[in-house]
Amino acid sequence: MNTSKSSALILRSLRSVWHPCTQMQHHETMPLIPIVRGKGAWLYDADGRRYLDAISSWWVNLFGHANDRINNSIKEQLDYLEHVMLAGFTHEPVVTLSEKLSALTSNALGHCFYASDGASAVEISLKMSAHAWRNIGYSKKQEFVCLQGSYHGETLGALGITDTSLFREAYEPLIRAAHVVPSPDSRQARDGQTPNDVLQHALDTLQSLLERRANHIAAVIVEPMVMCANSMAMYDASYLQGLRSLCNRYHVHLIADEIAVGCGRTGKFFACEQAGIWPDLLCLSKGISGGYLPLSLVMASADIYSAFYDTDLHRGFLHSHSYTGNPLACRAALATLSIFEEDNIIERNRVLAEYINVALQPLAQHPDFHHFRQQGMIWACDAIINDSENTRTFAHRFYTEATKQELLIRPIRKTVYLMPPYILDTEEIDILASRIKRVADNVMYGV
Ligand SMILES: *Cc1c(COP(=O)(O)O)cnc(C)c1O
Repeated sequence: MNTSKSSALILRSLRSVWHPCTQMQHHETMPLIPIVRGKGAWLYDADGRRYLDAISSWWVNLFGHANDRINNSIKEQLDYLEHVMLAGFTHEPVVTLSEKLSALTSNALGHCFYASDGASAVEISLKMSAHAWRNIGYSKKQEFVCLQGSYHGETLGALGITDTSLFREAYEPLIRAAHVVPSPDSRQARDGQTPNDVLQHALDTLQSLLERRANHIAAVIVEPMVMCANSMAMYDASYLQGLRSLCNRYHVHLIADEIAVGCGRTGKFFACEQAGIWPDLLCLSKGISGGYLPLSLVMASADIYSAFYDTDLHRGFLHSHSYTGNPLACRAALATLSIFEEDNIIERNRVLAEYINVALQPLAQHPDFHHFRQQGMIWACDAIINDSENTRTFAHRFYTEATKQELLIRPIRKTVYLMPPYILDTEEIDILASRIKRVADNVMYGV
């Protein structure tokens, strides 16, 4: 595409497309980037420029763009069955996917309920929890607990357990509030405190809430290991073990939102495996289809499933979405799982992460950044900025400077993070590491 064609496309987009997570007026000064194709870790724009997709296109893309193996699976499926409703019907891709995912939990979570996006999976997990309690005679258990700074999606139910004021503020009167308890984010440690003190305080506070209120509480929802949208807050697996035992002790469900941290992102297939625990309900989306097609699901324990199993229709879980269990999306997910198996991805990512750790040392040592941290295939550090004007503009300036260096990086406030696809080669890692350092210098020193 020539430049005039691409600027025409940008104008048409700004007139007709309402872009997500965007104040549209900002595009009067910040240009949209029209992407025409992708291959591997790279996206190519209409003017022939390229961008290394260091955030996996909002954390969904695991094995690169236009991946041959996933492409071929979808193409094959397309000639058999593009879609069929999942009420009263079933099909091979959804069955095999459910079996494979259950097997990955050693059948601790043996029942998969499907939807299309992450927020819907979260809604489903909340409804399932409260409804399961109701079905077994505890209809007072209708409240939820989430962590400070949590993010679980932006539909109204999910906003109730999302403690992010930027996304909530305008809708506060529409939202049913949850109990918000301190998070184990290890960065909160203050003079003399250790990360373990922070973690213990978080568990103690939760315990006293449960002590008082457990007969009204259906579930605690948590993002295991890394609270991604909360500027990649990381914490120790022992928090999850403590959480699991509190939930057992006070008869409260544990919901693991693995929409961002699942699918190998933290170094195990499920982030809960880091702690050796299973939740009662687990939400998956984002990476599960390799970043190809909208797909989400909630995996439920036998106890929860059996609370609904009955002759009475009203005791069933009557929730549905039109594209529930879409065969093309399930086929993309199966191809994604095959790559995990055939290429031994979990093992390989350990080696890859080591290489990336070393390559990122110049950023880790950068005098203007602190809290450099890593978990599996997630890296983050925070810019040291004190005035609010610079804080407000930092993410935008960093993003813009990064695009000039052929990188797609979108900081969250002061936090610069990488969540790359699992297919970077050493040359791409070296490009990423050297240029991110250059971007950091340019932004902090105003070059
Ligand atoms: C992205 C995300 C969601 C919401 O998923 P959508 O597909 O954007 O609705 C929920 N929880 C977590 C942890 C997420 O990262």
